[in-house]
Amino acid sequence: MRDVIIVTGGSRGIGAATCVRAAEAGYSVLVNYVSDTDAAADVVEQCRSVGADAAAIRGDVSDEASVVAMFDAAEVMGPLRVLVNNAGILHPQMRFDEMSVDRWRDVFEVNVIGAFLCAREAARRMSTVHGGRGGSIVNVSSAASYLGSPGEYVDYAATKAAIDTMTIGLGRELANEGVRVNAVRPGVVRTQIHASGGEPGRAERVATGVPMQRPGEPAEVAATILWLASDAASYVTATTVDCSGGR
Ligand code: NAP
Repeated sequence: MRDVIIVTGGSRGIGAATCVRAAEAGYSVLVNYVSDTDAAADVVEQCRSVGADAAAIRGDVSDEASVVAMFDAAEVMGPLRVLVNNAGILHPQMRFDEMSVDRWRDVFEVNVIGAFLCAREAARRMSTVHGGRGGSIVNVSSAASYLGSPGEYVDYAATKAAIDTMTIGLGRELANEGVRVNAVRPGVVRTQIHASGGEPGRAERVATGVPMQRPGEPAEVAATILWLASDAASYVTATTVDCSGGR
């Protein structure tokens, strides 16, 4: 049986590119999504077209029961080897002093609590302390964690700083239990997330300030994620890799 990879938010953008690259690398792929069933089905088809076993599962990562059900579904596909904590949201750009508490709670629920729940379930299954055979967790953070996103979404940036710190702590906690935990920090990447922020063309605007003078592509982030997940990164844990064109 092939190793299984779970990619949260695998239906679009960076997550979708990660699913396809994982399929090409020989994993069985579980594609998680929350609303866009057609997009998830399309990603499953792309994975199958390169010979991989793949399935889609709908579930909100911030809902504990849905997360447990997702890991149970992965077990049916084969031995879990990798979790990619990719699902993430942001809200329309605005000043910090205009933000509501509900907005902060919502973005922390998905980006932080969701990542915690998924990482916890992965640790419970992959850690040798729990009888697992080891594996890897890759958290998708953001350059926002060190830029702070002033005037756009300080709330979102703060969630990504939480992910960076969780990566260090969990990585060190599991280091001697066969599980590596790392994060990738994408810079500005050409996906639909910028439309959620109210500016679909943001990637092109921001790219003028990127040393490489262009936005990143989802496939470039996916390649970094798959490297961190692979045995090629066997001595890499509890750290973050910037994939940001030098920004
Ligand atoms: P995207 O194109 O907006 O896709 C978001 C994905 O997350 C979709 O698959 C969506 O599912 C899923 N999702 C949203 N809320 C969810 C929830 N509660 N439970 C499960 N899945 C959920 O986003 P992206 O740009 O690829 O971003 C992916 C990750 O990269 C995020 O963590 C983001 O913060 C990070 N990142 C992105 C950029 C960038 O410039 N794009 C830069 C730095 C970091 P549906 O399709 O069902 O809606």
